[in-house]
Amino acid sequence: MSPTRAAFELGGTETKAGTRQSVDLPVSILSNHIPVSLPVQVIHGRKDGPVMFISAAVHGDEVLGVEIIRRVLRHKALRSIAGTLLAVPIVNAYGFINHNRYLPDRRDLNRSFPGSDQGSLASLLADIFMREIVLRSDIGIDLHTAALHRTNLPQIRISPGQPKLRELADAFAAPVIMVSSLRDGSLRKTALDNEVEMLLFEGGEALRFDELAIRAGVIGTLRVMKHLGMLSSKSIKPTRTRPVYSHESHWLRAPKGGIFRAFRAAGDFVGQDDLIGIISDPFGDIDTEVRARIGGVIIGRTNLPAVNRGDALYHVAIIDSPQAAERRLDLITGELEAAVLPDEDEIL
Ligand SMILES: [Zn+2]
Repeated sequence: MSPTRAAFELGGTETKAGTRQSVDLPVSILSNHIPVSLPVQVIHGRKDGPVMFISAAVHGDEVLGVEIIRRVLRHKALRSIAGTLLAVPIVNAYGFINHNRYLPDRRDLNRSFPGSDQGSLASLLADIFMREIVLRSDIGIDLHTAALHRTNLPQIRISPGQPKLRELADAFAAPVIMVSSLRDGSLRKTALDNEVEMLLFEGGEALRFDELAIRAGVIGTLRVMKHLGMLSSKSIKPTRTRPVYSHESHWLRAPKGGIFRAFRAAGDFVGQDDLIGIISDPFGDIDTEVRARIGGVIIGRTNLPAVNRGDALYHVAIIDSPQAAERRLDLITGELEAAVLPDEDEIL
């Protein structure tokens, strides 16, 4: 008989090999005496393998990632995993219950890493998440959406010069991979500083579901786990199409205030100088054209028609060979739309 794999200890609770359970890590007590915890589901496989975390709602209003984690956790393939999965669907419980991106002290958790056990509320939460989850993991996927009233095309963000991350991003196969620099205080930078490989997923809108973005997140996460040898299910297949890479993007901002009519959606390709929207005054007397400053693919867009001068309208990623990229993007998006997740417990 082969020796049993050791249990996984988290917050004083042991999860035996071949089992899963939820563990509540205490964070603090609210002003009205209600305790707040960081809920984690630990899935500890019978076989050895990497420790991976998957997290959502670091920004409390980004509910889409919570649904991605729910679907991943219900997938049949997870009944037999190698290694250990730490699933944290709601990192920022304070923001989540208030439908708010930030913490009650108005701090952004994703600018508060690595945190400190003597710091602000954001810093305390960052410190617990770092110590208990990130530093226990070899790899992580952190799920985000666009901010309120904006939507993002499903995309993976990685830092430049990281071949292993590139390999994992290719395995995830979101339609677009943005190679972008890291911000101080972000989870992504702190993970990298501590040699934990981390992918950041962006897709959809705050406080809303978006089926394409949810599918991209679920299928991508399962693909990464299979790529790492954590899952063996034959139903999880790599993509046949290479994702579209971009190393540079820019925001197109409103040239004046008014009512904005958007002519293009996230995922559309635009050429330089294309007419992509109009801003009108409320009487319709004055129309101001919005034209693409450069060509590329729209990876983000506002959904709010009332705009002030300077508001971000479109986020455009610059890409090489746009025609070939457009074909690849269509193929990947089509694959996601057509994907049947046969091992899923529920009919969507
Ligand atoms: Zn976010």
